[in-house]
Amino acid sequence: MKEKLLISACLCGKNTKYNGKNNLLLKLSDLEKSFDLHLICPEVMGGLPIPRDPSEIKGDFVFSSQGKNVTKEYQLGAQRALRIALKNDIRIALLKESSPSCGSFQVYNGEFTHEKIPGEGMTTKLLRKHNILVFNENQITDLLNFIK
Ligand code: SF4
Repeated sequence: MKEKLLISACLCGKNTKYNGKNNLLLKLSDLEKSFDLHLICPEVMGGLPIPRDPSEIKGDFVFSSQGKNVTKEYQLGAQRALRIALKNDIRIALLKESSPSCGSFQVYNGEFTHEKIPGEGMTTKLLRKHNILVFNENQITDLLNFIK
């Protein structure tokens, strides 16, 4: 049986990004061969529309570029993503780097100046709290080696 993988929907070509586009991975077919993919988009699952204003993390909160506090939607999306992982007994995730939901090593600095700082998205943080390993799209080789 294939290992299960929680994966950002935008990495699978779904147009769930804030601007209505996606981040389709060239190596998606390699992943499909090795994993049973479970797609999530925490921002949409938290009730945000497509398209939507971009948002960034500031402290414990998330704000849109228009200054709207969208922390609740981000938290709800994270909880729903976690529920899917736990229900399906998923122990690994591959999430889009730098997103305020899915980032794993860095996020934007909260000032909308296109600068990144070390940090993790709200969903990544919650998944890691529950011992789910989170990789990003730059670590696909590591991820494939991990399950060998
Ligand atoms: Fe992709 Fe995650 Fe943003 Fe959804 S929340 S568009 S899955 S990076």
